[in-house]
Amino acid sequence: MQCPNCHSTDVVKASVAYEMGTSSGSFGSFGVGTAGGDVGLGIGQSGGRLTSDFAQRLKPPSTFPAEVGCGFFTVFAVFFALAIIFDIPAHNLTAAILTLGPGILAGAWIHRLLKPDQSAARGERIAKYQRLWVCLRCGHADDQDRFAKDN
Ligand SMILES: [Zn+2]
Repeated sequence: MQCPNCHSTDVVKASVAYEMGTSSGSFGSFGVGTAGGDVGLGIGQSGGRLTSDFAQRLKPPSTFPAEVGCGFFTVFAVFFALAIIFDIPAHNLTAAILTLGPGILAGAWIHRLLKPDQSAARGERIAKYQRLWVCLRCGHADDQDRFAKDN
């Protein structure tokens, strides 16, 4: 792997660079600046946190699916409605909550049916991120194919 911009071999996956930047704070010592042109300033200067546009580009897309949140909401809403309507005692409600897992999966499945575009878009973002590499010397970030090119 080699940076297509500055030809440095000091390149890592975006997820790795992000880890380095957020956990150890050593990212600043790489002196990433504006050499990349489209890369922001001030990386890793505030206690090991990535603070620039660059950090935003390295930030992993959320792997927490919106479907799960939707499922949670649906299941809780149904439980509360049932508890109120039928005056269900607390221990029965606890048993009902144990079925939460399947309920969430069902909710996720329904959500996927209703909003297939949203699910696809998230999958695409994650796939793209997994192919993103970054140069620690100039801060250039690009698809792994660009970095693989040996010239
Ligand atoms: Zn570079």
